[in-house]
Amino acid sequence: MLRPTIGCEVHAELKTATKLFCGCKNEFGGQPNTHCCPVCSGFPGTLPMLNRKAVEFAVKAGLALHCEINRFSKWDRKNYFYPDLPKAWQTSQYDLPLCVGGYVEFTLDGEKKRVRLNRIHLEEDAGKLIHDGGVSRVDYNRCGVPLIEIVTEPDMHSAEEVTAFLAELKSVLKYTGVSDVKMQEGSLRCDVNLSVAADGAPLGTRTETKNLNSFRSVARSIAFETRRQIELLESGGTVEQETRRFDDNRGIGYAMRSKEDAHDYRYFPEPDLMPVVFTDDDITAIKNGIPELKDARCARYAALGLPAYDAEVLTADPEVSDLFDNVVGLGADAKKASNFIMSEVLRLAKNGDEIEIKITAAALAEILGMLAADEINNLAAKSLLADVWGSDASPRKTAEEKGLLQSNDAGAIKEVFDAVIAANKKQAEDFLAGNDKLRGYFVGQVMRAAGGKANPKLINALLDEMKGK
Ligand code: ZN
Ligand code: MN
Repeated sequence: MLRPTIGCEVHAELKTATKLFCGCKNEFGGQPNTHCCPVCSGFPGTLPMLNRKAVEFAVKAGLALHCEINRFSKWDRKNYFYPDLPKAWQTSQYDLPLCVGGYVEFTLDGEKKRVRLNRIHLEEDAGKLIHDGGVSRVDYNRCGVPLIEIVTEPDMHSAEEVTAFLAELKSVLKYTGVSDVKMQEGSLRCDVNLSVAADGAPLGTRTETKNLNSFRSVARSIAFETRRQIELLESGGTVEQETRRFDDNRGIGYAMRSKEDAHDYRYFPEPDLMPVVFTDDDITAIKNGIPELKDARCARYAALGLPAYDAEVLTADPEVSDLFDNVVGLGADAKKASNFIMSEVLRLAKNGDEIEIKITAAALAEILGMLAADEINNLAAKSLLADVWGSDASPRKTAEEKGLLQSNDAGAIKEVFDAVIAANKKQAEDFLAGNDKLRGYFVGQVMRAAGGKANPKLINALLDEMKGK
């Protein structure tokens, strides 16, 4: 039985204000070639100046991922010729990267898995080629944007493991605040190294599929490449070491070029940049700047009395966890807030592989407060959330305008209730004789007669009273 062995190289753009070696804006979008200067456009004679924040961010990510931080690391030129790279070399780190070792841990099908990291280095991004109608153009806005490249050991054996690893990695990076990890904007990209071999046999020849930018496309490309290599080997062929692409539209992978080895890049030390040297105090200072991470939050939520499942769901994304913290800080009940966020808020917030929270903690706390005070019912709370989602409308005003407030006027409800009982004598007798299925019928009838706004708790209390409970 042949099975795949998979390692990943993940590139994450760091969200510094400026680029790695110049003062140009680091910002997604913008008119092509408007965030450029002679340094990041590779003019001869210009000199790079290292962005301190980018180094700090890379180390922060490394610490959160349990890496060793090299006290001495240096820069190297990775030479290759391609139109998206105007200098014709990428300033990267070869033999002395910022971070070594480390791991990512996650649970898959109830089992704890650990994927070891080989290293994390800091490097600059290249520009972007745009091919359109037989013409190719290049946008250098992305050129020189700081990237961390996270290299794993070949510790994974299925698409499920790889996507679970990526989800966890994405979450850790988002928690540290160093990258916004948006796969569809390209700020997180994954290269998949895959080979197949019999279990226990030495690893086979691997191929590398580049620049996958969604969990779905990672999973599909792994399925495709595994099948391709197995079929090739079983029909007596050999796997060529090569760099491949995956075409998401057609669902197939194809060879791009024969894979180069490190020596093909003619790596050599970057003469224009000083090595990076850290003291233990420097590292401690960066460590102290790391915000509260997932495990600490899970422990805090357990102390609040939340089930482990809730803690896991709420902390998968720091934005969701922050929202929960703030809503509870504003007085909401922890379990009720957790239920509402896990079901209703997350349903609206999920956009492909990303989570986009489009409500403030104050607005959400107001909705939960109205629900707790019986001013609105569950159904109204859901529709109110959808109404104020993505707007700055006041939930209370919206509820008033849309007539979502429910009546707690006991006298008025009793009047409607009496009229409904009088009009349904037979059912009332059956109900009193013990047919409790009619409870729902009466709640529905009273609710309808009251225009859907009666507090169902009060209707149920009237039914109890009638039964002499
Ligand atoms: Zn620049
Ligand atoms: Mn790289």
